[in-house]
Amino acid sequence: MKKLLAYLSLIVPQSLLTTKYLLERIPLLAADPSTCDHEWDVVASISSTVELQVQCRKCAIYSEIPDPTEQEWDASYGAMATPYPWEEKSRIRHYQANGPIH
Ligand SMILES: [Zn+2]
Repeated sequence: MKKLLAYLSLIVPQSLLTTKYLLERIPLLAADPSTCDHEWDVVASISSTVELQVQCRKCAIYSEIPDPTEQEWDASYGAMATPYPWEEKSRIRHYQANGPIH
């Protein structure tokens, strides 16, 4: 349990670590990224490369969305504090560090 909490504290802002949040997330950390049917949340905007960063809410891996529209870029401003779902899976570019693309 302590190890899980330490892991969570690395990937989410401290302000989100409420009990409810932890209870929702802990079972989901068990998902295997290689078999996961990813469901993405926009979690950040990367201003250096103008890309949106997304994270799978089931297995917690990260990927990115290149070339967001102006509206999408503006909408991502608050994503770090308030992640929101991303539905267009075809536009997601998977990070190679996470293994083979499925
Ligand atoms: Zn996933």
